[in-house]
Amino acid sequence: EATAGAEDAVPAIRLRGLVKHFGDVAAVDGVDLDIADGEFFSMLGPSGSGKTTVLRLIAGFESATAGTVELGGTDVTKAAPFERDVHTVFQDYALFPHMSVLDNVAYGLRVRGMGRSQRRERAQQALETVRLGHLGSRRPSQLSGGQRQRVALARAIVLQPRVLLLDEPLGALDLKLREQMQVELKQLQRELGITFVFVTHDQEEALTLSDRIAVFDAGRIQQLGTPQEIYEQPASAYVAGFVGTTNLLDAATSQRLLGVDAEHAVRPERLRLSPAAEMEKAGPGEVRLSAVVTETIYLGVGNRVHLRTDDGLELVALEQSTGSLDDSDHRGDHVTVRFARADAVALAAAP
Ligand code: ATP
Repeated sequence: EATAGAEDAVPAIRLRGLVKHFGDVAAVDGVDLDIADGEFFSMLGPSGSGKTTVLRLIAGFESATAGTVELGGTDVTKAAPFERDVHTVFQDYALFPHMSVLDNVAYGLRVRGMGRSQRRERAQQALETVRLGHLGSRRPSQLSGGQRQRVALARAIVLQPRVLLLDEPLGALDLKLREQMQVELKQLQRELGITFVFVTHDQEEALTLSDRIAVFDAGRIQQLGTPQEIYEQPASAYVAGFVGTTNLLDAATSQRLLGVDAEHAVRPERLRLSPAAEMEKAGPGEVRLSAVVTETIYLGVGNRVHLRTDDGLELVALEQSTGSLDDSDHRGDHVTVRFARADAVALAAAP
């Protein structure tokens, strides 16, 4: 029996030539995108780059100025939100304060006409999926932020949508809870096989969770790829700078160090520091620079070391912690900075 290859499969979401203007502002400026069934897909970008508007166009809360939205192969560009098999989890959770947690989760099933005992059973299951089975009788005000977040998720998954749209759903949580919820979200998505479209401006979150990421700037996708592609092979200085810290080498510096007249980027963890005396022994695949340490910042997992090379280049290196108390402050030290030529990624010129 023949199975369709991934390329032949109907995408959960297909956007073509999508444009949205608000007056003079092109919030979305020509987006083409296929999101596969069951994919954990993130839209990453700074505030105002158009991520939320794309999400709202998929959900049907905005109408497109131009272009099309398809869900599961059906053109829904003109369809009302309730006609679309998607569900949105908003940043503010939008829970009903006067209803119990269980009734909040069961609400959508009630609207669909499901009988009381069946919808309560399904709501209870959904609460158990988000590990809140014991809190169904509480009011939302009696829950922590993270628990409310999970109620909002339960309310979405109980409807078993093909596609779940999540707009910065972890934005309000503290770091610890956020990291826990990241793991839970990822597990939930795997278990349920739902397509997740996740909007965030947190690059680490996008890298951790996603199968693929679209990096947005000014209403356009600047790069589309796996987390590893986005991080290791950023297509532009914009992406390199937005996703993680990086050392940008301008064209003149690249020419001098690498013999290539184009902008390059080297990630801080690719820089190696060694005593100044090792300057002499550079191999052919390696760049060595003499530098002085200008600042050392303790990060727990290691140190971020700021450097200035003898010819005035400012660099940042990331050093793994060795666990020794000695590696705290090296300001003023003369060191050799080394990196493999292969770790300098050539960037496309800004469009
Ligand atoms: P954030 O991370 O802050 O939510 P975003 O990347 O989601 O930002 P959007 O909310 O999609 O960005 O906004 C994109 C652009 O469209 C911004 O310039 C914004 O000011 C503008 N915009 C969004 N909604 C409206 C609206 N209803 N009316 C007018 N302008 C809008």
